[in-house]
Amino acid sequence: CRDLSKTFAGPNRLFKRNRGVTAVDRVSLQVMPGETLAIVGESGSGKSTLGRLMLRLLAASAGDVFYQGESITDASGARLNQLRRELQIIFQDPFASLNPRMTVQQIVGEPLWLHEKLSREARHARVAELLRTVGLPAAWAERYPHEFSGGQRQRIGIARALASQPKLLLGDEPVSALDVSVQAQVVNLLESLKQQFGLTMIIVAHGLAVIRHMSDRVAVMYLGQIVEVATVDEIFDAPLHPYTQALIASAPQMQPGVSRQIPMLQGDLPNPANPPSGCRFHTRCPWATADCRQFEPINQVLSGGRQIACHRWQEINRDRSVITIAPP
Ligand code: SF4
Ligand code: MG
Repeated sequence: CRDLSKTFAGPNRLFKRNRGVTAVDRVSLQVMPGETLAIVGESGSGKSTLGRLMLRLLAASAGDVFYQGESITDASGARLNQLRRELQIIFQDPFASLNPRMTVQQIVGEPLWLHEKLSREARHARVAELLRTVGLPAAWAERYPHEFSGGQRQRIGIARALASQPKLLLGDEPVSALDVSVQAQVVNLLESLKQQFGLTMIIVAHGLAVIRHMSDRVAVMYLGQIVEVATVDEIFDAPLHPYTQALIASAPQMQPGVSRQIPMLQGDLPNPANPPSGCRFHTRCPWATADCRQFEPINQVLSGGRQIACHRWQEINRDRSVITIAPP
């Protein structure tokens, strides 16, 4: 996507001072075929909205979305229907995303009927196959969502997404509503499906622990803007942006033995309807200067495609000893 923005109107459009909320603000981002891109940020950062804009589930207020080189910003009709099949989403809440009055057969079989007009027998065979693919017994197809656990329901949601043979799968916090014990199973399932079907994935997450093991690159969002894009190793081992550094530092014990002498993230996310001037992170950044409060940093593209939006990133990272390895 290029310079992609989305503004949601405020509750009362007649109110002159109510300019609405710009949930996504001039974002440019690429997902490569076969890659898993994580979009990380606190709740309210606009990460789910960005994911939906990229899949054309939401229409952008400004900017463009491209798919395999083609602009799909204004795709409609048959082309949009085709995109709906190729670009699929898995929702955060498996409890809310499945119709309680439909059987698994109906839920997973719906796209097969809508898009492929498969016969009843063919649909049953495909649903059975899809259930086995996500690790559920085919015989459970006649059951209803309430008969399943959270992890099983998420598997049903994944089977439904796979039914239309997608090329790209967006997981919007796909495991954050699940018990910790079940999270790893679903993460492993997504990993193996990615290999099996050659999928490209976008994973939206607020926590870093989940994405460490399942993403190739990470885009860090803050108040509607991308502040850093880098490979997963760069993000975890040598984050450049003060916000990314704070996120890594405040993540619970991901690497035992490594202590990081970086100030933890302080304060709450400012109101997205009224974001701070200049660099939006300045109200929480330990490095903020008068310039940061006044001027918005541009998004710099470094060698290797890494992106960073901070006035002082070179200065801040000159002394990499800010990340220290504790003695054993
Ligand atoms: Fe901090 Fe300034 Fe960089 Fe923003 S531009 S992250 S306030 S140092
Ligand atoms: Mg969200």
